[in-house]
Amino acid sequence: MTNPLYAALFAPLTLRDSPVLQLPGEAALTGRAFHDMIAQAAHVLQAAGVGAGERVAVQVGKSPQALAVYAATVSIGAVFLPLNTAYTPAEVAYFLGDAQPSLFLCDPARADALAPVAAASGARLMTLDGAKGSFAAAMAGQPTTLAPAPRAPGDLAAILYTSGTTGRSKGAMLSHDNLLSNARVLADLWAFTDKDVLLHALPIFHTHGLFVASNISFLTGGQMIFLPGFDLQQVLAALPRATAMMGVPTFYTRLLDDDRFTRDLVAHMRLFVSGSAPLLAETHQAFQARTGHRILERYGMTETNMNTSNPYEGERRAGTVGFPLPGVELRIMAEGAEVPPGEVGGIEVRGPNVFLGYWQMPEKTAEELRPDGWFITGDLGRIDADGYVQIVGRAKDLVITGGYNVYPIEVEMVLDEQPGVLESAVVGVPHPDFGEAVFAVLVPQKGVTLQAEAVLEGLKDRLARFKQPKAAVVVDALPRNTMGKVQKAELRKTYAGWFA
Ligand code: AMP
Repeated sequence: MTNPLYAALFAPLTLRDSPVLQLPGEAALTGRAFHDMIAQAAHVLQAAGVGAGERVAVQVGKSPQALAVYAATVSIGAVFLPLNTAYTPAEVAYFLGDAQPSLFLCDPARADALAPVAAASGARLMTLDGAKGSFAAAMAGQPTTLAPAPRAPGDLAAILYTSGTTGRSKGAMLSHDNLLSNARVLADLWAFTDKDVLLHALPIFHTHGLFVASNISFLTGGQMIFLPGFDLQQVLAALPRATAMMGVPTFYTRLLDDDRFTRDLVAHMRLFVSGSAPLLAETHQAFQARTGHRILERYGMTETNMNTSNPYEGERRAGTVGFPLPGVELRIMAEGAEVPPGEVGGIEVRGPNVFLGYWQMPEKTAEELRPDGWFITGDLGRIDADGYVQIVGRAKDLVITGGYNVYPIEVEMVLDEQPGVLESAVVGVPHPDFGEAVFAVLVPQKGVTLQAEAVLEGLKDRLARFKQPKAAVVVDALPRNTMGKVQKAELRKTYAGWFA
């Protein structure tokens, strides 16, 4: 028995004297050098007493060392548990208490605040970098050879907590095969090779940056331009050296907002991928008009890795997430049965990408993962006549007003077309007569003063009366999380008393 992730992703690095990680303002790391780093991290993990199957939690900034800790953790048969750097110590306390990691790595600046939290959970706390006694300092003298721990394909490799906009975050358990099978399918579908240089500006505590981007690049022997985050200057400076980029929609809207982002700058690029939040059709079109490239949109989630993708060759259809990936089944369900093509229902998926269940939450797992392997994603969608999947929104964001279902995206699309509207979010808020009322939050285009009433007036002939927002407000920006997702739960809370 081998270690599937180590064998496919990291062992090949030992044979590479060419760069794998290009770092801004620093010398690039060769494959061999990065493998040395992984091996040394593995020795420090073992010296810290981390055994196979035990959890290693990390809440650290993005760096090659942090990526090496991921690789080292899965290579020694332990379970990697990355945490969003935005989480407060109180939030971290929940994750550590739930996952019971044996080791917790944090940034030096937060060590004092996190020490009591780690102590309460029983996890040993180390800072990843910084002064003496840090994990990185301990790596320095370690051997650069690595004996990976054997793992079965179905063994646990990582736990990623869902962003959990309502209720408690759940730990999605992902196996070696969940991750590897998905990386293989995507690498093939998106035609990645060892000639690719992937611009990597995503965080590595989330499935998109950690698994989709990094695993594909390691699997195919390419390079990554590894940026600490999305910094417009750095991204513009790096694009001429990249062949491909993966991003969330806000990356692309921020690039389009800058005049230096030109057709010439990206004429040589092979691929732009978007996911983690809906890419507006308008952004897709503006991107094509500016650059000549059609962004390839795909759909996935923490629990399932990637599920669908627009085609690499063939029509990339704006406003859709394309077709189920090879080996992944997808169906649209309502009231216990599959709905006819074109109708909206709950999206369910099944395949080697689908997680093992929620960590220590058998009831939650049973609610969402059917015994025959179908996972109830919680997303609503439809499949069009040509087989393209369209996401309509999260089931819990559906507005039910006076007994009628309103899909927010349908209203948002019409709102976004109104003069002066940059973007919008539609939510349901409590209403004395209707149960819930459709409520719109509008963001004006730069330099425009929007009148909410006038915008709503423009919807009169476009949408059935019950779909028209009963009220609207104008704000400077929508609340978004780090992956660019609009935080609808927060909007519902803010405007809950509007019709009281
Ligand atoms: P996360 O687990 O944080 O990756 O969030 C997954 C959720 O993001 C999915 O269930 C969808 O609701 C949403 N999502 C991901 N990709 C897309 C996409 N291309 N279009 C619309 N929603 C998306």
